[in-house]
Amino acid sequence: MNKSDKGFLTAYKLRQDLGIDPSKCINLNDVAEKLTIRVKRKDLGAGIEGACKSSGVKRLVVLNPNPSSPQKERFTFSHEIGHLLIHQSSYICTEDFFHTYKTQNDEEQEANDFAAELLLPRSAILDILTQKDLTFRLIEHVAVKYCTSLSVAAIRLIQTFNDSAALIWHNGQRLLWKVKSDHCSLKISDVISPMALAHKTDDSKWDIKGNVDPLCWIDNEVDNLICEEETHYFTKIKKYLTILKFYEDD
Ligand SMILES: [Zn+2]
Repeated sequence: MNKSDKGFLTAYKLRQDLGIDPSKCINLNDVAEKLTIRVKRKDLGAGIEGACKSSGVKRLVVLNPNPSSPQKERFTFSHEIGHLLIHQSSYICTEDFFHTYKTQNDEEQEANDFAAELLLPRSAILDILTQKDLTFRLIEHVAVKYCTSLSVAAIRLIQTFNDSAALIWHNGQRLLWKVKSDHCSLKISDVISPMALAHKTDDSKWDIKGNVDPLCWIDNEVDNLICEEETHYFTKIKKYLTILKFYEDD
């Protein structure tokens, strides 16, 4: 097993073993019960979203009783199940580990990969992407169907997208984080160009879509490249989610 695939493969195998339908939202309480994992909700201190304890055959997951959303709690819950199955040890997990689901800590990354695959299996995403275009609407649809946050759905869709694409979270001026599809080798700029369509959104126009000059979003000039931008503006928090799809013009 490749180290970096450990989380995904463990979740994949668990779904297979438990016979969970990939086209439906997973019930995590059922999963915990089948694995004889006890679940408790208890305040663990500021910034701590979840913890788990493994001692012999006894296994426990502890969740923050006041999560910022039920979707966030589901991710933490899955992440802790991941630790118990992959690492068979005890962990205390702070919010930083979950941020964009990327962390430098290998064990935390594996637990995040496990959570992503358990909540949103790759096979289901592949199926969806063969039928529907990758748009903000699709991200919303997948997030609702699988009870995940928008960011988990967006990241899974981009990672699985079978062409060159990128997902960018920004504040209109600078990039805050990005995820690229496996097929995207372009270098995404850290600075948001004034020519980007993102600047045409406002409190009354939340979503905008169209072709833009690829240099609005990437640092290197590539011949015959078409860039399709869709930006969704979150008015309350004044942040932007941009989906970029790149095609070669032939
Ligand atoms: Zn963790």
